[in-house]
Amino acid sequence: MLNNLKKGQLIVFAAPSGAGKSTLIKEVISNNDKIELSVSATTRSPREGEIHGKDYFFITDNEFNDLIGKDAFFETAEVHGYQYGTLKTFVEEKLKNNIRVVLDIDVQGYDQIVDSFENIISIFIIPPSLNELRKRLLSRGLDTEEVIEKRLINAKKELKYAKSFDYIVLNDDFKRAFDEITSIILAKDYEYNEAINKKILKDLLD
Ligand code: 5GP
Repeated sequence: MLNNLKKGQLIVFAAPSGAGKSTLIKEVISNNDKIELSVSATTRSPREGEIHGKDYFFITDNEFNDLIGKDAFFETAEVHGYQYGTLKTFVEEKLKNNIRVVLDIDVQGYDQIVDSFENIISIFIIPPSLNELRKRLLSRGLDTEEVIEKRLINAKKELKYAKSFDYIVLNDDFKRAFDEITSIILAKDYEYNEAINKKILKDLLD
């Protein structure tokens, strides 16, 4: 099934943390009946409000390793000390029912699938600047300053991968970024600001 993908049946999103990826994905999914999120398995514990089977399948290290042994994952990665993986059966079931599937994964996961599946659409979300990213991470109030500094160092590393994605979308304004993503995934005539986005990426990396 995964070897016979039609263009855009799988849509991959990645971004440094704090770029607004999860909120944008939520909006995309709630506005499109035929697009759903792939629910990954993870060994991290649920955060407040997260639901097993909806946000993630929260499983133990042993269960995760068993699934690796059974070749159950499309891709896996270790992120911030925990294991994450996209479940083949979950994705295949959706595709069978003509649902397009969004993968919210990190750049390591993307690296594992990009060469195997040419019909994937991949979108990398970038923040307007690293300063803005720092502000957003501070205002979320989820992390200590030390963790935020680590996330910013990580963000710089992740931004280097942006060029290998099909589209780079700047999240300077939520509505504008959402419209740009909608245009990309619905393949309408769209205003995709490629030149501007690439320039901002260059500034972020300098
Ligand atoms: P969080 O724990 O904050 O929900 O996610 C941490 C990071 O793990 C995010 O960058 C998210 O995209 C990534 N992630 C979530 N699920 C998967 C997955 O199945 N595979 C990979 N490679 N990364 C994932």
